[in-house]
This record gives sequence, structure tokens and C-alpha cells, in this order.
Amino acid sequence: MAFEDLKQTVWEANLKIVEAGLVLLTWGNASAVDREAGAVAIKPSGVDYEKLRAADIVVLSLETGEKIDGDFRPSSDTPTHLELYRAFPNIGAIVHTHSTYATSWAQAGRDIPCMGTTHADHFHGAIPLVRQLTPDEIAEHYERNTGHVIVNCFRERKIDPDAVPGAILHGHAPFAWGKTAEKAVENAIVLEEVAKMNYFALTLNPHAENLPQSVLDKHFLRKHGPGAYYGQK
Ligand SMILES: [Zn+2]
Repeated sequence: MAFEDLKQTVWEANLKIVEAGLVLLTWGNASAVDREAGAVAIKPSGVDYEKLRAADIVVLSLETGEKIDGDFRPSSDTPTHLELYRAFPNIGAIVHTHSTYATSWAQAGRDIPCMGTTHADHFHGAIPLVRQLTPDEIAEHYERNTGHVIVNCFRERKIDPDAVPGAILHGHAPFAWGKTAEKAVENAIVLEEVAKMNYFALTLNPHAENLPQSVLDKHFLRKHGPGAYYGQK
């Protein structure tokens, strides 16, 4: 059968976000792209995680969005994932959840500021709040337009999606991504955790300050980019 590895990867990523406590009911989906094959694999729409099998993962064309492989309908959020893959050329996987703390920041309508090194190790700056869609954007091609507003937010604010691998949609929830499915899942977990830490930090001290830029740069750059030295060679 075609796309075995891609489907297996996406199946595992979907189970991991449930295990990590980021997903209740069916509020979430993970996908991955094989850029050489021009194929995106994603969770089927509305299928319970306990019943989900690797064989149920749906494969679509990155270019046209048409189904290539699979028996089910793809996640309703598929057009959002496709837009992100098309606009952000280095990302290999995407995770969308309604994890509680990140979603609370999205509902509060605030960027998730970088308040500590946990955040700085994974995101080089605030995780941006993406604006609400207009009534026109909602009426037609809602999911595709959701992808557009995320992409436009990164362009307008000159944020590098490789350095800030996630965003929160106003009134909705987080999207996180990464070079690999493992990285996208990890970034989704970190995004939720820093949203939670910030919540507690600001509860304990409403005037708590953001991490100084010098510490933010140090922590991000020692793990990412040409000067990285963290971990094993
Ligand atoms: Zn959602």
C-alpha cells in the first residue's frame, strides 16, 4: 500500500497529542507532508482516537487538496493545514488542538509573551495572536482563510515561522508545527505548557515582566541555527 510510512507517522502523532493531554473528544488533528511526493497525510474527520488505525489516515495532494489515498473524509481543518504547508516551505508537520491554557490565551485575545527560558528554548519570541476572520472570510472557504490569516500574520509582523513554530487564533485555539512530526508534537506540548506557566506567573504577579531579549536570544540560538551548541553532536 502507498504512503505507509507517512500514514504511520501521522497516526502516531495523533495518538501522542491525546497521550500528552492536549486533546479531549475529537478536538484536534495532526498532519505531515511528504514534499517529494507532494502528499499530505491527515487524521480523518470525526473518528474517535481509540478507534483510529494507521490505515484510516487520509492522504491528499499538497497542490490540489484532492484525496490520493484513504477511505474516510479528511479532517475538516485540512484546508488550513494545506495553506500552511504551501506558505511555510520548511515545515514538515502540523498539530492543531484546543489545549486548555493555549486556548484560554486565544480566547482572551492576547499574544503568549515569552516570560521564561522554557519558552525561549523553543519559540524565538511571543507566540502571536492571529486576528479573527471577517464575516466574508467565514462565509466562504472558512478553513482555507484560517490558513491565510495565520500566514498573513507572520508576514505582516515579520515573524519567521521556523523560529516561532506556532500561533493562536483569536477565539479559537493553537496551531503548532515543526520540521518533523515529533517536533510539531513537541512544540504543541511546549506551547500549552508555556501558556500555563504564564497564566500562573501573571496570577502570582500581574506585573511580571517578559524575559529580557538577551536571555531570549541566548536560549533560542544555543539550540537552533548555525551557532547551536546544545545537546550531543
Ligand atoms: Zn479547532
